[in-house]
Amino acid sequence: MNITVQKFGGTSVGTPERIKAVADRVSELKKTTPHIVVVVSAMGDTTDELIALSHRISETPNPREYDALISTGENISAALLAMALQNLGVLAISLTGPQAGVATSGHYGRSKIVDVDTKRILHELSLGNVVVVTGFQGINDALDVTTIGRGGSDTSAVVLAAALGAGVCEIFTDVDGVYTTDPRKVKSASKLSEISYEEMLELASLGAKVLHPRAVECAKENGIVIHVRSSFDRVEGTLVKEAAAMEVNRPVTGVTMNEDEAQISILNIPDSPGVAGQIFSELADAAVNVDMIIQTVQENGFNKISFTVSVDDLQQAKTVTSNVGARLKASGVQFDDAIAKISIVGVGMMSKPGVAAKFFKTLGDNGINIRMISTSEIKVSCVIDKADGPRALELLHAVFELDRL
Ligand code: ASP
Ligand code: MG
Repeated sequence: MNITVQKFGGTSVGTPERIKAVADRVSELKKTTPHIVVVVSAMGDTTDELIALSHRISETPNPREYDALISTGENISAALLAMALQNLGVLAISLTGPQAGVATSGHYGRSKIVDVDTKRILHELSLGNVVVVTGFQGINDALDVTTIGRGGSDTSAVVLAAALGAGVCEIFTDVDGVYTTDPRKVKSASKLSEISYEEMLELASLGAKVLHPRAVECAKENGIVIHVRSSFDRVEGTLVKEAAAMEVNRPVTGVTMNEDEAQISILNIPDSPGVAGQIFSELADAAVNVDMIIQTVQENGFNKISFTVSVDDLQQAKTVTSNVGARLKASGVQFDDAIAKISIVGVGMMSKPGVAAKFFKTLGDNGINIRMISTSEIKVSCVIDKADGPRALELLHAVFELDRL
């Protein structure tokens, strides 16, 4: 059975009108495509509203009941979409995660999909139904509903595509694809016709919120091509797929700017074994996620350690580093949230020397000072002053010819 899997996100099913528009689109496809599975997210901000509601009852809701509650947003959109399809004369049925055979395990609120028993879905397809499945939820060994983490419907869709042997998972969203940079920040941003899993993962972790990273990982593991496209128009979007199948000519695929990090420096810490371990263990114990880290020799026998954290974690990080700094006899701790992290990403840079140099030189030639650098095989990031961020983004986008794709 050749099965098409499509996923529609929260904005795409945000209102009854939008749900009817999705139904129109699916019913049109049904004329040429016999077997369609549609995965839906909750309408608009429904999940946020359900979470807020739970907190009006309890500061620390019971995890089982919390999942029982927040999983319901998807039930609403799935049932409404099935109704809308039926109104158009299309055979359709909605299935919850449990009904669709989606098995989960692990903690409530962040469980993982471990298996899909496709019997019911296949049966409904064989009866001629469009099968509408709720994203974000499944059922655990105790037969309780669990959710798989915020934004998880993308992952639900990819897992279903894999289980149903669909080679492609179409993800419909409110943007028409993946861009070389944020089009709201750089006018000449261009849409990529394809991007590798690795690049997409880097971009996702750098803040491009187009796809849920776990969905990309899952697609990579199962060899599923993700087609990211707009539910508002018909244009082709971006294919997320294996890099090996593509010709990698360009060294850089995307440039990103993250303005939501802060830099912390611990000054004049004695240079002795165990110091970094101590600092970063205490940060980890306080659940602070650390991004870039640099240690430099400050003076004889003393080091300076700088690192970045998300601004959301800054208060917590300040408390922890001030305490540990004092205990380790550092001379002081500095904080700065007026920074921007600029990154270039591209699988092509692995085989092309001079990419990082071009990045640094572009900043230097334009009088932009680099405060921190970090690299991976397919990424180079620099921390610079926040005030220089937008200009740097624009310059790098042009230097790496991303406006000419
Ligand atoms: N409705 C869930 C959320 O808002 C899942 C999703 O949208 O993917 O997190
Ligand atoms: Mg959502």
